[in-house]
Amino acid sequence: MTAGKQATEARYRARVDQEWDRVTFGTHCVNCAPADCPIYVFVKDGKLVREEAAGVLETVEPGVPDMNPLICQKGLAWSLEHDAADRLRHPLRRAGERGEGRWERISWDEALTEIADVMLDAIDEIGPEAIVAEMSPQVATGPATSRFMGTVGGTVLDVDATINDFLTGLQQTFGKFSFSPSMDDTFHCDCILIWHSNPAHTMIPAFHFMTEARYRGAELVLISTDVSPSHSHVDYHVPVRHGTDAALALAMCQVVLSEGLLDRDFVAAQTDLSLLVRTDTGEFLRDRHVNRDGRDDRFFQAHPERGPVPADPASLELDFEPVLEGDLEVETVEAGRVTVEPLFARVKRMLDAEYTPEQASQICEAHPDTIRMLARKVAAGRTRISLGMSAAKYYHGDLMTRSAVLLLALTGNWGKKGAGIGSWNAFMFDGMSTLMAKTRAGVEAGMEVINAMRQAKAQLCEQDPSLTGELADRALLRLVGAGSMVPPAFFWYHQAGYRERWNRPEWNDPTMPREFDAYWKEAVESQAWGAAAENAATKPARVLLEVGGNTLRRSRGGKKAVFENLWPQLEKVICVDYRMSQTALHADIVLPATQHYEKTSFGIPATYTMFLSMTQPAVPPQGESRSEWKILGDLIQKIAERAEARGLESFPHRTGLPRRYDELWDLFSLGGKVADDVSAAAEMLADAVASGNMPEGTTLDTFREHGPVRYASWPFLALGTAVASPFPRGETLSPLRNHIEQGQPYPTLTRRAQFLIDHPWYREADEDLPRHKEAPAMGGDHPFRLSGGHSRWSVHAMNMTNPLLLETHRGKPFVLINDAVARAKGIEDDAPVRVWNDVGEFVVPALLSPAQRPDGLTVYNGFEGFMFPGGQGSNEVEPGMVKYLHLVGDYGHLSYAPTEWQPVPFDRCIHVDCEPHEGSA
Ligand code: SF4
Repeated sequence: MTAGKQATEARYRARVDQEWDRVTFGTHCVNCAPADCPIYVFVKDGKLVREEAAGVLETVEPGVPDMNPLICQKGLAWSLEHDAADRLRHPLRRAGERGEGRWERISWDEALTEIADVMLDAIDEIGPEAIVAEMSPQVATGPATSRFMGTVGGTVLDVDATINDFLTGLQQTFGKFSFSPSMDDTFHCDCILIWHSNPAHTMIPAFHFMTEARYRGAELVLISTDVSPSHSHVDYHVPVRHGTDAALALAMCQVVLSEGLLDRDFVAAQTDLSLLVRTDTGEFLRDRHVNRDGRDDRFFQAHPERGPVPADPASLELDFEPVLEGDLEVETVEAGRVTVEPLFARVKRMLDAEYTPEQASQICEAHPDTIRMLARKVAAGRTRISLGMSAAKYYHGDLMTRSAVLLLALTGNWGKKGAGIGSWNAFMFDGMSTLMAKTRAGVEAGMEVINAMRQAKAQLCEQDPSLTGELADRALLRLVGAGSMVPPAFFWYHQAGYRERWNRPEWNDPTMPREFDAYWKEAVESQAWGAAAENAATKPARVLLEVGGNTLRRSRGGKKAVFENLWPQLEKVICVDYRMSQTALHADIVLPATQHYEKTSFGIPATYTMFLSMTQPAVPPQGESRSEWKILGDLIQKIAERAEARGLESFPHRTGLPRRYDELWDLFSLGGKVADDVSAAAEMLADAVASGNMPEGTTLDTFREHGPVRYASWPFLALGTAVASPFPRGETLSPLRNHIEQGQPYPTLTRRAQFLIDHPWYREADEDLPRHKEAPAMGGDHPFRLSGGHSRWSVHAMNMTNPLLLETHRGKPFVLINDAVARAKGIEDDAPVRVWNDVGEFVVPALLSPAQRPDGLTVYNGFEGFMFPGGQGSNEVEPGMVKYLHLVGDYGHLSYAPTEWQPVPFDRCIHVDCEPHEGSA
């Protein structure tokens, strides 16, 4: 052990040995994974001493290990951020130019008056849409910000695009993405493919279920470009070339079919592979093709005796075995007799022609024998693909995901314990949903919201008997959720300088048949994106409100485009945060928020754990910091006060209805009843208890005294119920069981897990079926592929400056570079490297490692720009491209709903070059 490590350990042990006189339950209200860890927070003489895992979780399913100890090393160091050097304690106003770093301390009243006035100016000049907020993954900030923005009618950018944890390929295939298993379900796996993921670093509290499954006999396979830290815990490591995962998955599919490993019944019932497709156009055979007034969303299967028969839209249960191969002739309305075939036949032909293991090996560099071995393992038992969010961040990540899901489909691998794939689901808590929507305080008002949704759902099902509860829920999500958030792509295109970048053909898919703007124009004209597209073009932002967010750290594309285009048009940039973030450094006014052990808030309501945790004030707030509820409530009162002083009575809300300034506070606070973090938490919890989502009798004191509380039923919101399984009582959660066990249809156009997207753009792009495409040269023609990934030391940027965590690694950003390549280029370990491409450049110290591919560079996500030499972060070389095919918005399940289908920017596999930097690191 080095002297530095010994010192760190000694300091940590000294902390642990400290005495304490008070202990409270806490948690961390961010979207870490799995989140919600119940923590004991120790206090001595009113000061934070340390925290540790509470270890209070009971066994869920007999025979399955419990979740204790649920904690990670960030969680064990959070208390050090309470009074760290970058902690904000007082409202600040910039005293120099933006970003210059000169600040003056001002009073809360001064700060709120200045902000209220600029917001009134923006509303007056343009409309409330000119007040723009990026949401934050800090769940403690979400409800207050949503309520504030909903009350004033501002523009809320969809958080799933700004952070880009949206797996488009899941949405394309299943019509939903938020079906996530509980972490303990991993114990039931026979085979786990860790793909685009590094759970030993990024899922620290949950990782033991993988190793425990392995003790039970499961085999773990890591598929990655590098020898990642998860490597030493697996049975097989399959290194692949950057961006070629689809080829590997499709070759495994080819092996499954060629070796007779197909789960035929699963494929026939659950997927669109049993639907008939036309051989002349490549489309599904639709009702409208054979009947003059036929529907566009009704399809056909081939009956062995009766030929084409309508596929049941209401149920997946079959009383016959659909034919999966061979041709049929069908008389169509427009084209006469045409040949049709089951989609399965077409997919099989494609796999045999293009994706044999030998062919795929040329693409992905995995040996053909390895591909065959893996395919057999996947087909042999319950296989889970532990798909990381990196798959969401590749330009062709959708193709990779669709291909991986095809492998699971062919082997019958979802909807049962230990099988399947998942994403994230943070929608388990009814209270958060009701609080966004209700207009009065009290559980009666909360139940009115829920009952109105239930009634609307019943009406939809009555109008269309083919709808199941889940399908009706999702139709409602699109209706009711519209406007609460907007897909930010339109904002970025018009106001943040991305139009020019997205129209660079050399940074797009080279097979893209037309220029980007041609697709953009069609998408906007289709009206599929509603007011988001129009408002972004006509209503320039004047005020940017960041509440726990960090635009300048996280923006794909870095600061350049944003500074040149968005920042000059903003009258005020306002940051509400507990620490001085990269964005706060470039703001006009910074407001200090309370930290996680200073306020009452719930953790992320996720299916990973199936319980909810709460944090509470263990110590008083630092300085003048206030909870987000208090800050935004005070601000809304100040807006009303300043409006009155300026003789302003009302304004047109984004809904089109007039809104009076003197009613803002009542609307925001539900008549003064939700005025701070504690009353907000109590209001949310009461609604969730009334709806049955939380156990009867649960109060804030239950959390204060006993820690986390397990959910009692599914929430009412469609994003929560996307899991589509019986509520797990005394067992782990395995998603999608309702589709398998009850034959409930999927919320896709075809009501089946859908592998063919026969939209004209997809056919034109040759992406109507999953396939491999090379990653575009985002950033230009350069030899290295720059990728990122979650670091071990941070939840986003939040813990990057934590003094303890800084001591556990080099304490500064670094680029992982292959040691032999580095030496050949004259790059020494820890010496500065200049990384550049056609977009920009940054300087970063090198970390030489044989674990990196010769053509790979990795800079972990989360380091703030100001931590790099020169102040430029690794996102400065990302063009921030989106994929034009994600602009389709009017194709069945490819239509916008909050946190779902929309264009998202990519940051993996950026083309760059590097060289030794002549300066200091
Ligand atoms: Fe758990 Fe997240 Fe806290 Fe880590 S940071 S201990 S994963 S809640």
